[in-house]
Amino acid sequence: MKKQISCPKCGKKTHFTPKNPYRPFCSERCQLIDLGAWVEEEYRIPTENSANLDEIPTNEESDEDLHSSESTFLH
Ligand SMILES: [Zn+2]
Repeated sequence: MKKQISCPKCGKKTHFTPKNPYRPFCSERCQLIDLGAWVEEEYRIPTENSANLDEIPTNEESDEDLHSSESTFLH
């Protein structure tokens, strides 16, 4: 009984057996490409944080304006 599967990377038919150390991939190359793509996704997370920082200075500016006009009115 032979169990054939398609490589998740290139779609090539390969055997899902203990003889294939790269299963479910067809070759070492496809296995390494998949690991590389996984690492790239990890590095994308800090980029989202710097986008959020851009919004903070705008909020602080309008907050300061409210405080300065308030103290001028009280004195
Ligand atoms: Zn492959």
